[in-house]
Amino acid sequence: MGDEIKRSDFIREIIAEHNRTGRFGGRVQTRFPPEPNGYLHLGHPRAICINFGIADEYGGICNLRMDDTNPTKEDVEYVEAIAEDIRWLGFHWGDHILYASDYFDALYDYAERLIELGKAYVDDLSPEEVREYRGTLTEPGRNSPYRDRSVEENLDLFRRMRAGEFDEGARTLRAKIDMASPNIVMRDPIIYRIMKVPHHRTGDKWCIYPMYDFAHCLSDSLEGVTHSLCSLEFENNRELYDWFLDQLDVHHPQQIEFAKLEFNYTVLSKRRLRRLVAEGYVTGWDDPRMPTLAGLRRRGYTPESIRNLIEMVGISKANSQVDIAMLEHAVRDDLNQRSPRVMGVLDPLKVVITNYPEGQTEELEAVNNPQDASAGTRRVPFSRELYIEREDFMEEPPKKYYRLSPGAEVRLRYAYLVTCTDVVKDPTTGEILEVHCTYDPATRGGDAPDGRKVRGTLHWVSAPHAIEAEARLYDRLFNVEDPYQGEDFVDNLNPSSLEVRPCYVEPSLAGVGAGYRCQFERLGYFCVDPDSTPERLVFNRTITLRDSWAKIQGR
Ligand code: ATP
Ligand code: MG
Repeated sequence: MGDEIKRSDFIREIIAEHNRTGRFGGRVQTRFPPEPNGYLHLGHPRAICINFGIADEYGGICNLRMDDTNPTKEDVEYVEAIAEDIRWLGFHWGDHILYASDYFDALYDYAERLIELGKAYVDDLSPEEVREYRGTLTEPGRNSPYRDRSVEENLDLFRRMRAGEFDEGARTLRAKIDMASPNIVMRDPIIYRIMKVPHHRTGDKWCIYPMYDFAHCLSDSLEGVTHSLCSLEFENNRELYDWFLDQLDVHHPQQIEFAKLEFNYTVLSKRRLRRLVAEGYVTGWDDPRMPTLAGLRRRGYTPESIRNLIEMVGISKANSQVDIAMLEHAVRDDLNQRSPRVMGVLDPLKVVITNYPEGQTEELEAVNNPQDASAGTRRVPFSRELYIEREDFMEEPPKKYYRLSPGAEVRLRYAYLVTCTDVVKDPTTGEILEVHCTYDPATRGGDAPDGRKVRGTLHWVSAPHAIEAEARLYDRLFNVEDPYQGEDFVDNLNPSSLEVRPCYVEPSLAGVGAGYRCQFERLGYFCVDPDSTPERLVFNRTITLRDSWAKIQGR
């Protein structure tokens, strides 16, 4: 299959080399190993696309394995959310979800095996002492006084740890490697710790839990993973990954690291995202302002736009930050192709067409998607009273204002050319209440038979036909490029990241359900929120139409 692959990057090159040398017999198997302690965020699709994408390309499988070795932070809610997000992105795993906890028995046996090999010992140092003995980047560590216990004593103590005889923190099982190693990860890392906490899958069965480094490599090995693709922060851990597998002489996958994906104006660490949820800065993990996949989906992002972005950014070995405008470009690009156009007004100003017969209604033909002829047309009602956008009228317009103003003629999209004749104001406040226009009946459809030019084209809805709905308009969640700057990242939250306002939309939208996406002409792409009811539609603005990234790139 290798020949058909057009994409290339350093990971695919390593795999191609393994296939040439026959290291794994031509097999390629990967896994995506999230910790179920939060929802997936915008960084995860890179790992997902790499792991699932590479397995697909080589006709192998990619397991979804929950890294559930820390029972204090995990929850089934997260397992379900993670699975849903991956399915939404369009990837598939084997028959069922796998769990590191599926291997607790096997991992325990491996730990005893390490003890028997003289490669692990039970340590009585307290957590603070362990830290103290570890040394620093510039100083070697010191051996624990318990390091040279006999195999028999170690086995006995480890079994008693498992049986629950000791308190949390009283003892640990540690690998016996090298307290002077320049790689701190190798200074007798802890393999098992006592945690008297029930686990969401294994219940009360265990009171000792394996550490990530031990569980991860052996889970990979047990599953027959060939390429363990992970992010760069595990680079130092690779030596330990290899050490465990070598000592135990078991199937040995190759770990390969890639850089994490990061964005400006965004925080991605689950710990911080959890805080935004827990402290009520957002309405939940799926708040449309959240950089989670659940939030982006609710906001109206398509899985294709996210996959396209990942493709555009590529894979690299060095950490770097991606401009969030690039994500916004990717979603605009995708929505432009697929979104039906409709008309809606976010800030209504009433227009009365004074020469249009009272009580008359007609239906005008509107194009559903100029990017897609197969989307066809629809009929929109027109009448004497309409709403236009308040900012599309100015009583005293500056030069080059081509929208509506006294005496000016503009086109109402798909309808008629209209000319403003009058303005009705509130006598006390001066607020503009209505704009009066006349229409030219000869311009039905929006073009003048005499060929006269009109520069402005406005969207509108017929007042008696319009549906009143709710629009939720979003801005970036943080108002600075680097939300980590300053004392506490929540200080950089944008206080106006959400604006809720009533709006009017054309009647063709009656009955659309949650998840329905469309473009409100000139205003952006919108998606119906799950809060929507048949009585009141709720629209999330996914994104406006202005594409700052494309502009910068000169596209
Ligand atoms: P966080 O630091 O946000 O809590 P994590 O790395 O702890 O993230 P996991 O659930 O453990 O999150 O991650 C599952 C997989 O996704 C890991 O293989 C990890 O390397 C990868 N991953 C996590 N964040 C990113 C990111 N920003 N870019 C690319 N891959 C990521
Ligand atoms: Mg993690």
